[in-house]
Amino acid sequence: MTPKKDFYQIQAEGIIKKLAQRNMPGFYCSTSEEAKNLAIELMDSPSVISWGGSVTITEIGLLDELKKHNYTLIDRKEAKSPEEVREIYLKAFDVDYYLMSANAITLNGELVNIDGNGNRVAALIYGPKNVIIIAGMNKIVPDEQGAVARIRNFATPPNALRINSDTPCSKTGKCNDCLQDECLCCQIVTTRFSRIPKRIKVILVGETLGY
Ligand code: SF4
Repeated sequence: MTPKKDFYQIQAEGIIKKLAQRNMPGFYCSTSEEAKNLAIELMDSPSVISWGGSVTITEIGLLDELKKHNYTLIDRKEAKSPEEVREIYLKAFDVDYYLMSANAITLNGELVNIDGNGNRVAALIYGPKNVIIIAGMNKIVPDEQGAVARIRNFATPPNALRINSDTPCSKTGKCNDCLQDECLCCQIVTTRFSRIPKRIKVILVGETLGY
């Protein structure tokens, strides 16, 4: 273990205690590989699975791993028209498991997510029977204010560049509080409690993952 890994583990233990008070069980995995395997263990087979746009779940190899198991996958990338995209997004509300990352998690165990289209935060809030969140420890922030500052200044600008979105932050490298059609920050959602116990599970990973 390196001092950084030790730190991640200690910090994660504190956050997991706070998540438990919020009805959201938390887990800590030192590596992406462990996180991928744990996510698979947490999901019954067979079951129906979908996911929100996430660099993290791709980076840890989870999307490829899903294909090796007895799961029915609802994949937005299979849509061939805007109508089919909508159909798939609506189907994703009725899955057994919805996979996503979080844009930020506070030391107090709140999840903070910013979304342009809104389908991902909508599924987090209501619909899927279970939500599994996988987040690198680079997503940890002190509080909600720090979460929004991190997301709008350090996560969204590179993400806008990644998806070729014509937002002001993709040109200036910082949030310009835009109000335009391409905005990636239409919804800012803080999840502070899960009314359905254990519906949302959070896997913290001792690595830098996603944006
Ligand atoms: S400029 Fe717009 S899209 Fe970019 S971070 Fe700010 S509000 Fe979000």
